[in-house]
Amino acid sequence: MKDISKKDIGRLCSLSDNAEKIAITAHLHPDGDAIGSTYALLKFLQGLGKDACIVLPDRYPESLSFIVGREDGSLIISAKDDKDSAERLIAGADLVFCLDFNNFTESRCGLLSEPLKALPASQRILIDHHLSPDTSLYALAFSETGVSSTCELLFWILMSMPQTDGRPSALPEAALSALLAGMTTDTNNFGNSVFPTTLRMASLILETGTDRDSILYHLYNEYGENRLRLLGRLLYKDMKITGDGVAYIIIGKDTLKEFDIQEGDTEGFVNKPLEIKKVRMSCLIKEDDGFMRVSLRSKRGISANACAREFFHGGGHELAAGGRLYIPDDIAGPEEAPAYIEKVTHIFMNRDNG
Ligand code: 5GP
Ligand code: MN
Repeated sequence: MKDISKKDIGRLCSLSDNAEKIAITAHLHPDGDAIGSTYALLKFLQGLGKDACIVLPDRYPESLSFIVGREDGSLIISAKDDKDSAERLIAGADLVFCLDFNNFTESRCGLLSEPLKALPASQRILIDHHLSPDTSLYALAFSETGVSSTCELLFWILMSMPQTDGRPSALPEAALSALLAGMTTDTNNFGNSVFPTTLRMASLILETGTDRDSILYHLYNEYGENRLRLLGRLLYKDMKITGDGVAYIIIGKDTLKEFDIQEGDTEGFVNKPLEIKKVRMSCLIKEDDGFMRVSLRSKRGISANACAREFFHGGGHELAAGGRLYIPDDIAGPEEAPAYIEKVTHIFMNRDNG
């Protein structure tokens, strides 16, 4: 991780000092890192006496609700549930923090795409760990790919702020828990993207007495039976492995309905096929309205990011990326997805991807 510059921290302080109303936003289908980072920043800004709220493109999954304090539920607005309020809060904010994403496309921002684009750059701040940001879109951009997560990057930013002066105990307890939870989900519980700074962050947060066991319990021991039953079926019956070492699983709407799968329930599924030695890239494809949602994970030497950018209108990180297959532009219907995946991954895997 690059050092966080004093100049950027000074700029962050002056931008937030001069802002009365602050909105914090993250990407569509918010995950643990998105919720953990937006909520931790909310708690920090509340501590400074700011009028702050979180505006998301859509609701966060129930499985992550343990991160958010009950008293703050009303400060988190989903544009999908209340478009008018969401638009009003973004347009009326003096400053908007964009966390865990770095472009304003509809596939990343959903209904917030246009309201975010409409803001002047001088009112936007980026805090993100994805590849290829357009930093000219922001008054201030904290963009760092050499960290585990946005939660980690935010932690180090907050540690550089004069209010904390490097002391984690100066942060609200709820912020510390949220940051640890978000970092845990983005690293698959320390399974990937772990840097020396990640372990240092974890250690500093644990020293404050934050209850990691409780976070792990909420994250990994409270699923419904349906999730594991579905995973079993997908791995036993539905997973295909191509001759190029690409595993893919397609989950149709009928299956999502049969297993009563909610947003967040399939989190982590895409990683499972990588446990097989011959599998070098894994694709999980879920049917949605008018498109298929694509998640990609790859082993070292194969760029999930390059594949997502070239064939799935997306991107992300080197080894973990996502995108979409549009119907009817890319494929006529979900039944064509297997042939499309096999065709494009064959092209991709047989090229020099170094
Ligand atoms: P996931 O597979 O967990 O949904 O996403 C994996 C990574 O790819 C995440 O870092 C996420 O931000 C990124 N990603 C997922 N979907 C999209 C997309 O539609 N566009 C872009 N640019 N990135 C995506
Ligand atoms: Mn993230």
